[in-house]
Amino acid sequence: MVQNHPVLTPDTDVSSIKGIGKARAETLVEAGLGTLRDLLWLFPFRYEDRRHPIRIADLGKYVETPVLIRGRVISAAARVSPRKRMRIFEAVVEDGSGGVKLVWFNQAYLADQIKRGDRLAIFGVPKSSSYAHLQIESPDWEKFEGDEDEEGAIVPIYPKVGNIPPKALRKIIASAVESLPQLEDPMPAAIRKRLGVIGLSEALRDIHEPAVLDDAFLRYRAPAHRRIILQEFFTFQLAVRVRRATEEVKKKTRTISIEEDLREEVRKVLPFSLTGAQKRVLREVADDLRDSRPMYRLLQGDVGSGKTIVALIAAMIMIRNGHQVALLAPTEILVEQHFQRTLQLLGKTVVVAKATGSASAGERRTLAAGLRSGYIQLVVGTHAILEEHISFKSLGLAIVDEQHRFGVEQRQKLFAKGDTPDILVMTATPIPRSLALAIYGDLELSVIDELPPGRQRIRTELRESIALDRVLRFMDDELSRGAQAYVVYPIIEESEKLNLRPLSHGFAVMQERFPSRRVAMLHGRMSSAEKEETMDRFKRGEIDLLVSTTVIEVGIDVPNASIMLILDADRFGLSQLHQLRGRVGRGERKSYCILISDTDKERLHLFAETESGFDLADVDLRLRGPGDLLGTRQSGALRFRFANIVRDHDLLERARDEAIAVMSELGLEKADALARTLLGMEPASALRD
Ligand code: ADP
Ligand code: MG
Repeated sequence: MVQNHPVLTPDTDVSSIKGIGKARAETLVEAGLGTLRDLLWLFPFRYEDRRHPIRIADLGKYVETPVLIRGRVISAAARVSPRKRMRIFEAVVEDGSGGVKLVWFNQAYLADQIKRGDRLAIFGVPKSSSYAHLQIESPDWEKFEGDEDEEGAIVPIYPKVGNIPPKALRKIIASAVESLPQLEDPMPAAIRKRLGVIGLSEALRDIHEPAVLDDAFLRYRAPAHRRIILQEFFTFQLAVRVRRATEEVKKKTRTISIEEDLREEVRKVLPFSLTGAQKRVLREVADDLRDSRPMYRLLQGDVGSGKTIVALIAAMIMIRNGHQVALLAPTEILVEQHFQRTLQLLGKTVVVAKATGSASAGERRTLAAGLRSGYIQLVVGTHAILEEHISFKSLGLAIVDEQHRFGVEQRQKLFAKGDTPDILVMTATPIPRSLALAIYGDLELSVIDELPPGRQRIRTELRESIALDRVLRFMDDELSRGAQAYVVYPIIEESEKLNLRPLSHGFAVMQERFPSRRVAMLHGRMSSAEKEETMDRFKRGEIDLLVSTTVIEVGIDVPNASIMLILDADRFGLSQLHQLRGRVGRGERKSYCILISDTDKERLHLFAETESGFDLADVDLRLRGPGDLLGTRQSGALRFRFANIVRDHDLLERARDEAIAVMSELGLEKADALARTLLGMEPASALRD
């Protein structure tokens, strides 16, 4: 039977949407936009108010401000700039009031696309320069081809999808929006009411086809935005809570007791007394260990605040109760570091082993046998422990160091290894509470907010590049006294098409400047074996000066290194600078963190004056967003389509409260069903990777 109005669901194939032909549908599927849901959640990243283009004659009033102009191309040509050795494409457009030059760099192919006589809508930032009157560099552009039905409208601008022309894509999405009335709202009316949000159809329509671009809309605070943002946050919060509750149903079967003789033993191995913060956190952890629900706790503390010792006491508690402990670190250097410290502290009373990728087959067999029999009580290793076919007699606790995102997948692997082991994740990245909630949602949080007594302060100094030579002389003096130093260059996107020029240039400069010193280079493009080899040599004191990118950021402990020199410091987030600063001040030497920068001095002064990583993280989150705080890799975890945890953190708290309320109101089963319905509405969300 053929239906005139088939019932549409979020999963409906794009090919069944009215107005989308077969060829287009194929392109959409290829671009990962195979369903109605995918189209509806492809949001415009900008709108053009074509009702009010700017007259080219008036551009002078809009220097450095993004504007829309429209006009006809009166000349277009590619040329090579001799000075910059670049291919340049230039076009001049005119709108009757005047003309302006458009310039694109290294996009010679534009010559095939933009021709004399074309009518263009141009969106870009007019700039004035010494050699040209006014020009717009690398603007967004779009052709008007004859029909001008979009003139005088507010036009949504979408990300590029395959080779579909922008106007055609707008038509496709408009068709999807047309089918909206047939979609059921996945959020129950009662919850909508309490959150104070409008219906989903209405919200989606408004985002794709706004009637007005008023102030609230431009600040992402129109009712439509509130609805989408709250839906994303609420769905995430509800889903993580459902997952957590499902795990909690798996009660632990072990019982943990902490008797006086165990306390006595802990006191004996501890070379110092715990700080107040350490005691408080240890109590939180110990309570979790004794509880019948599995622990899932994030232990935050600034570098050197003494997280490891707290974790090791938790390990002792677990071991003395007859269970095993795994300590996981992200790199082999850190594994080695933890292994040595663990041996020092517990080696006399606990059987400790190390699991690394470089172990021989025989060593591996011994390790596997020791873990299976329960003879090995504590194993320190990389995440390879989880991958390999290693089984434990009774894994009670996993401690995970320096891993911002210990994901669902790893957690499940851990669960598969033991009787619902307790999990303690340690991080020195001071994540503000709001961000922690957004990323983990379901973690308990413990914070060590106090440094052990007697810690020496690191002197932080800000210098302009003109003073670099003086700084280097100072550094030379310190090196003569036997100190070691880090020199860090800002190559921020380690993973992307990497331009190592500034680093290798810096390396050459340092070699030349310090001919009698041992200078080495470290960066993310090196193999991990090479990196470890270099770090080991630095640790052993065989390198005086390590010229590096931010790869040295995490966890490295070289007490003799006392100078951290950071070039172009303005390029780093405050939290990142703080991590770098934490690499020095770890030993007896008076330590220095020296920032070289000619700009952004206010922020850098703030950094120099602030010692607490948490205070800096809050500032950083506001100034630069979560990507910089977590590093680009980790921030991939925060894939909300629309919501932005910095801009919208007020709504995050609201969504979280509502999720907690809904959980207790509906109970696990119904909450689970609701979470699934909501997730079904959204394309790949933060929970689905
Ligand atoms: P984190 O892992 O948080 O960076 P660590 O646990 O490695 O910090 O501790 C850093 C250093 O401080 C270690 O040398 C440790 O022995 C020492 N330490 C930890 N807690 C205390 C304390 N309460 N008093 C004195 N020294 C401490
Ligand atoms: Mg540590």
